[in-house]
Amino acid sequence: MKITGIMSHVLDCAMPEELGYSQQYYARRTAHLVEVTTDEGLTGWGECFGPGSVALANKGIVERVIAPMAVGMDALDRDVVWHRVYNLLRDHGQKGMPIQALSGVDIALWDIAGKAVGLPVHKLIGGAHRMDVAAYGYGMMLKRESVEDHVARFADEAAAIIGMGFGAAKMKTGLGPREDVRLCEAVAKAVGEARFMVDANHCYTTSDAFYVGQALDELGAYWFEEPVAPEDLEGYRELRAGLKVNISGGEVEFTRWGWRRLLENRGLDIAQPEVCALGGISEYLRVLALAHAHFTPVVNHVWGSAVSVATNLQLLAAMPPIPGGLHPWEPMLEFDTTENRFRDLLLLEPLDIQGQVARNGGRVAIPTGPGLGVEPDRDFIRQYEIA
Ligand code: CA
Repeated sequence: MKITGIMSHVLDCAMPEELGYSQQYYARRTAHLVEVTTDEGLTGWGECFGPGSVALANKGIVERVIAPMAVGMDALDRDVVWHRVYNLLRDHGQKGMPIQALSGVDIALWDIAGKAVGLPVHKLIGGAHRMDVAAYGYGMMLKRESVEDHVARFADEAAAIIGMGFGAAKMKTGLGPREDVRLCEAVAKAVGEARFMVDANHCYTTSDAFYVGQALDELGAYWFEEPVAPEDLEGYRELRAGLKVNISGGEVEFTRWGWRRLLENRGLDIAQPEVCALGGISEYLRVLALAHAHFTPVVNHVWGSAVSVATNLQLLAAMPPIPGGLHPWEPMLEFDTTENRFRDLLLLEPLDIQGQVARNGGRVAIPTGPGLGVEPDRDFIRQYEIA
């Protein structure tokens, strides 16, 4: 089965309201889907991490750099395609956008592999260790409003997320260390017995991260995500050694080689690989094996459209319990509770994550159809496609 074409679709829309995290405010949402066609009529879908102009640049890499290397190859030879592309791009980018672009192509080839044999991706990997997974809701984004308004809104949103049925809620920080501790105190109170997590998107110095992290130790936060810059391996190691709260991160790390350094550094309690960025499903499985070789539990980073969510559900199903037990440590599905029509309305048969969470005690079923188990609606894609 030969690859006959690799196209990508960049979808864009204005969001109902501007939202922010520690690095920037944003008012538009983007999704970057990859479509791989074959001479046997099977089509696979993938997704590349990266919003806005990054998605537009990645589209150029997918269609003008990767497609000429891979068209004509056997669509079932996904690992051969991966290494051909990676080896030819090594001199031009071992991390970042070339690998994000490759990720979407690789995911689409896994979708094709599943469709070719009529099996979901989790069966191709080795089977499902679980057929549903707990979801956590993130929200509590930054806005252009006062600290007082943030505190009141975060308390309301935390309670609302738990009220939707999610077993845990994740908040942003980034107003400044003292202000951020006030936000965390409000959320800790509002979630009651449920878990809460804190995502700094790498806005702190190590000393400021200790200031916030010591408050999180007292408040019983479950994890402290991306406290410092991803390049600051020493900062991560010091924080993990000095704080009780779990240190998490890794969403901006790429490939087995990047993850090797991150894991050997011993700075993470919880690894958060992003399959749509780090190199696709093929590379995710190698990173997962590396993480488990270090006995580091994994909670996938999830961002983007329904294609990304479906991909992650397949991977969460196939993630072995480490170390196992009657009541084993379990991963969770990350779910953005802010408006995202590219997730909620993209598919011919929507996943309806929010409905599942509300009905099924915060749990989401693993899709069982062939490949990723989902099919995008081409009319919807045409409606929002900008490139
Ligand atoms: Ca994050």
